[in-house]
Amino acid sequence: MMTPLIEIRNLSKIRPEGRGYELRIPCLELCPGDFFALLGPSGSGKSTALDILALILRPDACEEFTLHLGGIDFSAKDAWMKGNIDSMADIRARYFGYVLQVGGLLPFLDVRGNILLSRRALGLEGDGPLEELAESLNISHLLSKRVDQISVGERQRTAIARALAHNPSLVLADEPTSALDPLTAADVMNLLVSTTRRQGAALIISSHDWDMVRAGGFGELHIDVRQSKPGEPILATLTPHTGPKVGEQK
Ligand code: ADP
Ligand code: MG
Repeated sequence: MMTPLIEIRNLSKIRPEGRGYELRIPCLELCPGDFFALLGPSGSGKSTALDILALILRPDACEEFTLHLGGIDFSAKDAWMKGNIDSMADIRARYFGYVLQVGGLLPFLDVRGNILLSRRALGLEGDGPLEELAESLNISHLLSKRVDQISVGERQRTAIARALAHNPSLVLADEPTSALDPLTAADVMNLLVSTTRRQGAALIISSHDWDMVRAGGFGELHIDVRQSKPGEPILATLTPHTGPKVGEQK
C-alpha cells in the first residue's frame, strides 16, 4: 500500500469571529500524485482547510495530523502543540507549492525572479525546471517583465510556475482561476493540471465552480455546511467523495 502524504483524523478548527464557525475533518488521506477538487460554497471553509493543510493555520484539536514527505514522518499535531513554527515553515517551503486566488507575486521582481523565489528561499542551486515550466505555461516571452506589466491571466500562470519551480510534493491552489474570464480560466486550469501532472505532484484545487472541476475528472473533497438556526454558528464538515457524482448540489 502506498504511504499517504497526509493523514488527518478528527481535526477541528474554530473561528469564533462573527456568528461563529467550525470546520471538522473526520478523516482525510492524500496520496502522492492524487488530484482533488475541494468543493464548497463561499464561506464554507475552503481557504481555511487549505491553510490547515499548508501548516499555516493551527487546528484547535486533532487526533492525528501526520505528513510523510521526503522519507520523513512529520507530526504536524506535535509541531503545533510544541509551537514548533520553524519546522513547519521548513516543511512548507520544501514540499508545498501554494497558488493563491490573486496576488502573492512581488511587484519589484520580474517574472523570472518571482518564479525562482521558492528555489532561492530553499537555497537551491540553478533554475531547476524554470525554462520548461515557462514554456508549458506559455510565459517564456515574459520572463524579464515586471509583474505590473503583465495581465491577470499571465500573473496566475506565473504564480503556478512559482508554486512548481522547487518540485513540491503537494500543490495547493485556492480558487486559482476565480479572478479570470471564463476562457482564460479554463486555459489556466488546464495548464495548472498538466504541469502539476508532469511533475508528479499531488494537487488540491479549491473551487465553487462544480462544473469546471467536474470537467477535470478529479477526486472530490466536499465541504458540507450546516446551521441549526439562522444566527447560530456554522458547522462545516470536509469529507472525501471519490469520483464525480452527477446531479449533486451546485
Ligand atoms: P471559503 O474559502 O470557502 O470562502 P473561508 O475559509 O474563507 O471560506 O471561511 C470559512 C469561515 O471562516 C467563514 O465563516 C469566515 O468568516 C471565517 N474566516 C475566514 N477567514 C477568517 C479570518 N482571517 N479570521 C476569522 N475568521 C475567518
Ligand atoms: Mg476562500
